Amino acid sequence: MEKIRLGISTCLLGENVRYDGGHKLDRFFTDTLGQYVQYVPVCPEVECGLGVPRESMHLEGDPDSPRLITSRTNRDMTECMVRWAKRCVVEIGEEDLCGFIFKSDSPSCGMERVKVYNEKGMPVKKGVGIFAKIFMEHFLLLPVEDEGRLHDPKLRENFIERIFALKRWRGVLGKKANRGNVVDFHTKHKLLILSHSPRHYQMMGKLISQAKDLPLKELYRQYQTFLMESMQLKTTTRKNANVLQHMMRYFKEQLSSDEKQELLEVIDHYRKEYIPFIVPMTLINHFVRKYDQPYLKQQVYLNPHPLELQLRNHV
Ligand code: SF4
Repeated sequence: MEKIRLGISTCLLGENVRYDGGHKLDRFFTDTLGQYVQYVPVCPEVECGLGVPRESMHLEGDPDSPRLITSRTNRDMTECMVRWAKRCVVEIGEEDLCGFIFKSDSPSCGMERVKVYNEKGMPVKKGVGIFAKIFMEHFLLLPVEDEGRLHDPKLRENFIERIFALKRWRGVLGKKANRGNVVDFHTKHKLLILSHSPRHYQMMGKLISQAKDLPLKELYRQYQTFLMESMQLKTTTRKNANVLQHMMRYFKEQLSSDEKQELLEVIDHYRKEYIPFIVPMTLINHFVRKYDQPYLKQQVYLNPHPLELQLRNHV
């Protein structure tokens, strides 16, 4: 697979673009995820014309529609940032991004819980950075996260699963449009979708069963919306355990009673969170290979992202 194009706040790549001339390098992004990703760096404050170093800024006023204010000289930079950000999202739409990683807590880049100061100078953590807000409103279903949240192994796994799924879907969009390509994509992603949203699994199954009655463009549009909505919903231990049990049914005839018992125990231990997800997945993968189960062996759910990222070792 060619590299996934991902937007990122420039300072996370180690570029000295912060107000104090520093950076916020995160080696997971550069050294680990960077092997699979081609970053498109964006520093809203530098790119909207403020230099390095510059005066620090903060949000103030109404948390739903705050102003971007310089902290020492009290200059209102909101209009300047909004004007630039609206241009930027249009230009960045050409970049084929599969997601964006924002710098947390920043009045420009923070995607949630950014401090907004009231008239008494008291902060409430209810704001969204000016650029991040415009970006997320423009690209409604695009996977986005901030680097702080990505330290959580479950959120990290979920985000990376989403960007890989979107990249594979973009591969379908890059081919000549036909129903067979959508059906094939769906067949391989069924269990992945089920692990995120049983409701979308049902709806998408219905959509695919009606594929031949829908205009092609409409099929692609609806399928993409359902796919992105479903992947936005987080997997949980319970949902994964249910999918594992669902998978077990495909081995009913082949597993020995010992193997069945072993798999049930491992799923139960995972459900109780005694062991990480990688343990039942390794066992299932082993049985899929051993019994050459045709439906399961094509499921992306077994390997939705490179093993080297070790994402399932920690969830
Ligand atoms: S947080 Fe955003 S605006 Fe601030 S330095 Fe990093 S990329 Fe630039």
